[in-house]
Amino acid sequence: RLIGAAAESPQEDALERALRPKMLDEYVGQQKIRDQLEIFIHAARQRQESLDHVLLFGPPGLGKTTLAHIVAHEMGVNLRQTSGPVLERAGDLAAILTNLEPHDVLFIDEIHRLSPVVEEILYPALEDFQIDIMIGEGPAARSVKLDLPPFTLVGATTRAGMLTNPLRDRFGIVARLEFYSPEELARIVTRSARLLKVQVAAEGALEIARRSRGTPRIANRLLRRVRDFAEVKADGHITREVADAALIMLDVDALGLDLMDRKLLGAMLEKFGGGPVGVDNLAAAIGEARDTIEDVLEPYLIQQGYLQRTPRGRVATPAIWRHFGLEARNLREH
Ligand code: ADP
Repeated sequence: RLIGAAAESPQEDALERALRPKMLDEYVGQQKIRDQLEIFIHAARQRQESLDHVLLFGPPGLGKTTLAHIVAHEMGVNLRQTSGPVLERAGDLAAILTNLEPHDVLFIDEIHRLSPVVEEILYPALEDFQIDIMIGEGPAARSVKLDLPPFTLVGATTRAGMLTNPLRDRFGIVARLEFYSPEELARIVTRSARLLKVQVAAEGALEIARRSRGTPRIANRLLRRVRDFAEVKADGHITREVADAALIMLDVDALGLDLMDRKLLGAMLEKFGGGPVGVDNLAAAIGEARDTIEDVLEPYLIQQGYLQRTPRGRVATPAIWRHFGLEARNLREH
């Protein structure tokens, strides 16, 4: 699986961390968010205040975690990292909050998956830097207010629409991450190649970039696999031809679609005549969770114009019929 949020092994995890830019000016693309953050961070530092809470949303692998680390780095503070599903009880979050240093960054990944009781605790913490905790049990139980150091919450989610309104309203800075252009991804590949001490030609970097689903995590992962191929099958140098041969071997096609994409689109065309088809039917047909289709697979296919979301369901576009060497029914009828 090339796309999922987690890397596949501890070594891959370590490599991914090593390739992560640390400062805002090394962070490629996302110009709008970068410009905004630069100003807000500068202003907060000048006033010696914590940065306003930040919500980042967008598909996996686009650089949300990286940006959270950069914010902490640029603010000169520590980052504490956790995630929505990990925080089961109110006490889990209270323990983290009461241990923060002034102006620290708390990063909560998958923030849309916070349980309601934990979310309750978070509201006053975000608004007034205070929490209410219960001490004791039964009739002797009482609620105590604790002051927290001012801190910055950076929340990340794949879809902003899955957040409750009261939670979303508590973020002063809300930013949507966009897919990267091939040129931006080529810059990331070139930078990563330098760090990994791999020789890559400009055309080779662009070929990997074009076939990385607009996603830096995928670009870095494909670079590492193409490097293996180049070392075994060529002289270690990644040219356009070497990149192309390696990507074909990795089942990444000329449009940059991987096996999962083709399984989804193939099912749409062959089993459902190109749609409209409901997402639950699609999920059942390919044996994937609905969330995976909506959060991981679809956004890129929609952005590229291969698939459309209509009120009656998903529809394949003529471009994807052509790519699969088939003709749309409506084309054939003419
Ligand atoms: P997310 O949290 O959105 O799933 P990550 O922040 O973990 O994504 O990014 C995945 C990898 O992609 C990082 O390890 C980093 O090396 C790379 N990356 C992401 N965004 C950028 C960027 N703007 N510039 C350079 N590298 C990036």
